[in-house]
Amino acid sequence: MNRIERIAARPADLGNGMRVHRALPTRARRMVGAWCFLDHAGPVSFAPGQGMNVGAHPHTCLQTFTWLIEGEVLHRDSLGNEQVIRPGQVNLMTAGHGVVHTEESLPDSRRLHAAQLWIALPSGVAHGPAAFEHYPELPRWAESGCAFTLLAGSYREFSAPTRIHSPLLGIDIHSPGGGAVELSLAPGFEYGALVLEGEIVLGGERFGIDEFAGIADPGAPLALEMNAGSRILWLGGAPFGEPIVMWWNFVAFSRQEIVAAQRAWEANDPRFGSVAGYRGERLVAPRPPWGESGA
Ligand code: MN
Repeated sequence: MNRIERIAARPADLGNGMRVHRALPTRARRMVGAWCFLDHAGPVSFAPGQGMNVGAHPHTCLQTFTWLIEGEVLHRDSLGNEQVIRPGQVNLMTAGHGVVHTEESLPDSRRLHAAQLWIALPSGVAHGPAAFEHYPELPRWAESGCAFTLLAGSYREFSAPTRIHSPLLGIDIHSPGGGAVELSLAPGFEYGALVLEGEIVLGGERFGIDEFAGIADPGAPLALEMNAGSRILWLGGAPFGEPIVMWWNFVAFSRQEIVAAQRAWEANDPRFGSVAGYRGERLVAPRPPWGESGA
């Protein structure tokens, strides 16, 4: 009942000096529901002329889910979308069979604080058409000193508009002055929390910034105490029933599919298209480590 695993998010480098903390996947926990990747970027301040700049790169069989807390980031993709995301908003890109995108801080944006997640797509829709949606407004409510923003799924009487393809939950919980709430857990879901700011006590255990709390065997409502200024990302979902393979920016259901995606990207295959208007580099896909045959 509510056994809590403590997992330290590990530092990772996105290139261009952009450091993040990666909470999913780790050896201790690969996924929470279909949430299969979680990077926490910042909070950081940039010098003039600096900022995040992630060059053109492809994705397959997943959705990229960006939650912006501070800063302004321009998204461009091979579908022709150009969208600035601002604090309190979500960008959701469905890669399907293949899509390419770029992400860069706006020139005057000096701060960045964001979470970027991937959602694995079930095999029935994984190779479908690509899509992009921007969500400027999300359900918000406050309870006992904690401000909730519902990013994905449903919680109590609230439902998020974000288009997802498996049972999932994502909530940002922020407490400017400190607070305490009980989190309701849905039967059959698994859960995890990443601390984005400050310090919290979850189920009686203290967690600091970039510590991930994985909830094994969820049961009774879980007590969450938030210190002043703390913020967490609360994730849940039905266990993803299909084994996936992840390599670089690709999700697939076999190594052969990963090899095919890597080759298509390397060969500039129209499967992925290109991003109009972006002047930076096209990222190089590393060869998968398991050889040409995919065996
Ligand atoms: Mn990406």
